[in-house]
Amino acid sequence: MSKRPHRRHQRLLTASCALLLALPLAAADGRPPVTGFDLPELGQPADLIADPALERRLGQAWLRQLQATTPLWRDDLVRDYIEALLYRLAAQADFSAPQFSLVVVDDRQVNAFAVPGGVVGINTGLILTAESEDEVASVLAHELGHLSQRHFARSQDAGKYNQWIALGGLLASIAAAAAGGGSGSDLGLAAGLSAQAAVAQNQLRYSRLFEQEADRLGLQTLTRSGYDPRAMPVFFLRMERSSRQLGYIPEFLLTHPLSSSRLADLERRVATSERKLSARSPDFSLAQVRLQVAYSASPDELVTAYRKEVDSGRASQASQLGLTLALLRTSQLPAARASLAPLLAADPDRIDYLLTASDIALAERDYDTAWKQADSAWSLYPDRRAALERLTRAGLAAGKADLLRPRLDRALRRYPNDLRIWRQLADCAASQKDSLTVFRARAEILFLSGRLRLAEEQINNALRLARDNYSLTAQLNKRLREMRELDEEFRG
Ligand SMILES: [Zn+2]
Repeated sequence: MSKRPHRRHQRLLTASCALLLALPLAAADGRPPVTGFDLPELGQPADLIADPALERRLGQAWLRQLQATTPLWRDDLVRDYIEALLYRLAAQADFSAPQFSLVVVDDRQVNAFAVPGGVVGINTGLILTAESEDEVASVLAHELGHLSQRHFARSQDAGKYNQWIALGGLLASIAAAAAGGGSGSDLGLAAGLSAQAAVAQNQLRYSRLFEQEADRLGLQTLTRSGYDPRAMPVFFLRMERSSRQLGYIPEFLLTHPLSSSRLADLERRVATSERKLSARSPDFSLAQVRLQVAYSASPDELVTAYRKEVDSGRASQASQLGLTLALLRTSQLPAARASLAPLLAADPDRIDYLLTASDIALAERDYDTAWKQADSAWSLYPDRRAALERLTRAGLAAGKADLLRPRLDRALRRYPNDLRIWRQLADCAASQKDSLTVFRARAEILFLSGRLRLAEEQINNALRLARDNYSLTAQLNKRLREMRELDEEFRG
């Protein structure tokens, strides 16, 4: 990072302390209580403060800083799953054209966040703590309520600059928490306290009225999407209880304070709703078991525990997958393949199983099989980036870069801001000895992780190689200008 952004960041944090005192926390106090799902007019119209296109660019700039500072969960199977869930909910919420950038943060503390411009984040810790998809959905639906009502813009009364101060504080708290609570460490008191110190500077603490509005809309979204709205108060209450045991408050409850009146309001609203007992897909348990095995400090013990369950004949699909993944983690590859076989036989098109088969084959260095399994998944689910990631690993090891390349190009047209796909393209182009594309891809990777100056160097390298090609030179120069403008806008 250059010196300038660093100084700027410090300025943001210092200023946020001062402004915290001036934040109108209870602007709408004294209004009559609202019942049902009707929407009150709160504060001033958000569109006067920021327009959606600007918000979107600011959101993407914030995301680049997040990607520069915070570890994201490495396996896209989990991200793909949460993203699909988010869009399913958004289709039933108040958005005209929902467009999100979803990140899964590698942090075992319970947290989720949404910032203007459609950046939605969820910690692995939240997925591990939830007991059902309905509970994860309830947090996402609540966050969607804040986004659709543009609460953030409406609680920052002096425009863009103040929004950046608050967003800078939120970024610092997420980065600080993930540094202490990621996969490398135990979920301990120290991590929680350091997060809390950072959150103390964080202006993104929604007012009571905004919380109630997000709850109300969230419940509506959950119900319309076929989820059990009761999951919301149940999960929020569990978070609150766990905070008493842990000795600190989970980040989510700091930014979304759970007062007893808010909880009572939630419970009253769901009291009359019908209890839903619809059949659930195993997606949630499969994603959760994947995280459990990956985080486990003693995978050998997990093998024993899952084996016992499977041998009893009453194992769920998730336990069977858990056994498979624990065997894979402990390099018992033939046993892992045998454990996966019944799952694949029963549900041959399920992406979790196809990609697990690919992972086992990769570990066995059977790259052709790994490619074949990932390719089956890719042809069934061409939007899933988890399949692309396996295709890249297997394809490059098996010398299939030329087959891989059109898939990566296609994926980038759909996800032009996806850091991981640019990385895959850089690797693919390197194995094709296509230096110009390597430089271009590296420029995007550096830009998307908040390092403009280094990105510029890579574009200049590409420009040197493209010197006789006028249209390519023009294209590269245009991209360079865009990157500078987007970065400058964020610096303010
Ligand atoms: Zn909230």
